[in-house]
Amino acid sequence: MSSVRGSHLLTASVVAGLLISASAGVAGQEPGVPTPRTPVIVLEMAETAAGAGFEGRIRAELEGLWSPYGITVAAPDASESDAGACLAVKVVFTDDEPGIKPAPNRRPLGIVYRVGGMYRRVVFVSPAAVMRLVRKSSNEPRASAVVASLHARMLARVIAHEIGHILLESEDHAPRGLMRGRFRPADVVQPGLERFTLEPHESNRVASRCGLPAPVGQR
Ligand SMILES: [Zn+2]
Repeated sequence: MSSVRGSHLLTASVVAGLLISASAGVAGQEPGVPTPRTPVIVLEMAETAAGAGFEGRIRAELEGLWSPYGITVAAPDASESDAGACLAVKVVFTDDEPGIKPAPNRRPLGIVYRVGGMYRRVVFVSPAAVMRLVRKSSNEPRASAVVASLHARMLARVIAHEIGHILLESEDHAPRGLMRGRFRPADVVQPGLERFTLEPHESNRVASRCGLPAPVGQR
């Protein structure tokens, strides 16, 4: 676990000698009448130098990460979604945010801040730090398109982790899954979602917050 006062960090870690240096409200449900709707995370992304196609790829990855929990990820202009949003959050891509500046033995990937007990609805993610993790994940040269694809996928995983802190209203880290405190180079080349899932108590918390029924057998 890596955290600093009033904030929450996701860091890369040292593996096998490689230096990585590493709205809140619950939706109202009328008594006895479950409201049929899909909880939504409305995600606004600050512009990236990589452009709209890059954003689309990150969105698709995020959708894949959250859809197993019955949650859709939408853009702010999807007006039909905003009304029922479980969470509206902005993503800022920056390598200069003070909270995610690299430090000895620590290379933060993303951060969310808590102010007065509440998480700000802003996720900061460092494209350079995530790219570094991508590059550490292979000794072989890769085509730039492959690197870009892995970068987008890993950025999405970091963003999903930070959104997890906001949705769970917790700075805690899990021993495994999406809410681990550290992502490693080996995670970059994992095509599946199995290393990026929520623990049962986490998915229950998210379900409760977003007005979903608790998953069967996990109440
Ligand atoms: Zn974290």
